[in-house]
Amino acid sequence: MSNLQVDALVVGGGIAGMQVALDLGDQGLQVALVEREASIGGKMITLSKVFPTLDCCSCITTPKMSAVAHHPNIQLFTYCEVQSVNENNAGFDITVLQKPRYVDESKCTGCRQCEYECPITVPSTFDRGLGAYRAIRVPFSTAVPQKAVLDIDNCLLCGKCEKICPVEAVDFTQQPQTFSIEATAIVLATGFELSELGAKKEYGGGELPNVIDPLMMERLLAPTGPYGRVLRPGDGMEPTTIAYVQCAGSRDQTLGIEYCSRVCCMYAIKQAMLISGALPMADITIYFMDIRTFGKGYEQFYQNAKAMGVEFVRGKVASIREDEDHNPIVKVELTEDGHIIERTHDLVVLSLGMLPGGSDQAFGLTPSSDGFVAIPAANASPCATQRPGIFVTGTAGGPMDIVDSIITASAAASDASAYIRRKIGVQVEQPEVAYA
Ligand SMILES: Cc1cc2nc3c(=O)[nH]c(=O)nc-3n(C[C@H](O)[C@H](O)[C@H](O)COP(=O)(O)OP(=O)(O)OC[C@H]3O[C@@H](n4cnc5c(N)ncnc54)[C@H](O)[C@@H]3O)c2cc1C
Ligand code: SF4
Ligand code: SF4
Repeated sequence: MSNLQVDALVVGGGIAGMQVALDLGDQGLQVALVEREASIGGKMITLSKVFPTLDCCSCITTPKMSAVAHHPNIQLFTYCEVQSVNENNAGFDITVLQKPRYVDESKCTGCRQCEYECPITVPSTFDRGLGAYRAIRVPFSTAVPQKAVLDIDNCLLCGKCEKICPVEAVDFTQQPQTFSIEATAIVLATGFELSELGAKKEYGGGELPNVIDPLMMERLLAPTGPYGRVLRPGDGMEPTTIAYVQCAGSRDQTLGIEYCSRVCCMYAIKQAMLISGALPMADITIYFMDIRTFGKGYEQFYQNAKAMGVEFVRGKVASIREDEDHNPIVKVELTEDGHIIERTHDLVVLSLGMLPGGSDQAFGLTPSSDGFVAIPAANASPCATQRPGIFVTGTAGGPMDIVDSIITASAAASDASAYIRRKIGVQVEQPEVAYA
């Protein structure tokens, strides 16, 4: 592939990366957006509804994904990873690895005939293993781009997809390829990963079938979810008592994750409200140490959940085991009186925390003590990293919600745009601002 010259490289196509790319593109700057997965959308496209408005996540995210794909100033590179970054006088020389899709993107029309023909079923990472898809598939119904990707590790090489494809797009000979991008500035939007489900052994995550992670619950609640309703994965039963364990992956020295992940209280409250709607007879309990409702309208959201009958129990969950029917039994030390109680639920969701999503080594940055991209002068320049010309946005810089991810995206776009214009010598017109 030939070398490409752009004003800005955006790394990561979640909500933050898409917003940066759109803001920069709208300003007339040329942008390359590199995403390591086969589609853009990040975590947000997998969510059901958003707190605090309970708007449909897909309805907000899909138009942005489509706007990125069709923007005349944005070039999208999916299934790609940045390998190295070298500084030069003009900015950065970036080497990008294009992973093989085994499908020619320029030919594939997204008709999915290959998918219908493929005999191999594998757990769907999009549905966090709760559903399944084929070894060759378009990643999910609203994926951008709508191009198939072939999972070679699970492929039988039976050739059925190759035969059925009407445009001869399947190509088993594809190899990893590298190409270069020259960019004046870089914006890191590499996002977050959930902390590990099994990190706290005493909670049984990954061992007990009815102890799940919160992104699994998002998929169970999503209209496009794997079962179309909330069923517990252990045996497909409709749960009637559901519990949340807060701070199951944050504020915990034993895990080395001492910070608050900021969104877990709110997503647990949101999911509890959505479950109340989906399963009106269900009892929902949230075991918590503190409830943190930091954003606009968030405290009212919490009060609404209480008014709807969601039970909030202040206590420290010591352990979770299961009975003979695989019902999780939660042992809690109540903070108010020190009593220890045990309660049986049908399903338990561990409110896991946020860990950094991408590695910043290729960009020559030293992470901060919590592992997220370091922001040396957070109060003065919340999107500036240690290296001039490299900016950070969204959860790549630390835990935050969607509102803050979008705000920091526009802030990073503004910083990057000013930097690019300074660097390439374009005069920035100073607005006339009158200060009182
Ligand atoms: C269960 C749950 C429910 C939530 N519900 C809500 C809610 O209702 N409301 C709300 O405001 N917030 C909610 N959040 C928080 C919300 O998900 C995040 O604020 C938001 O998704 C952050 O977006 P992002 O773009 O920073 O990161 P991400 O969505 O993680 O996107 C990062 C992207 O970068 C890509 N990437 C990573 N590394 C690389 C690399 N090296 N090269 C190329 N690409 C890379 C990833 O593949 C990904 O596509 C929830 C979080 C969880 C866990
Ligand atoms: S690879 Fe061929 S059959 Fe599969 S979605 Fe693309 S065009 Fe359709
Ligand atoms: S060659 Fe692989 S991906 Fe294609 S149909 Fe056969 S098993 Fe599925």
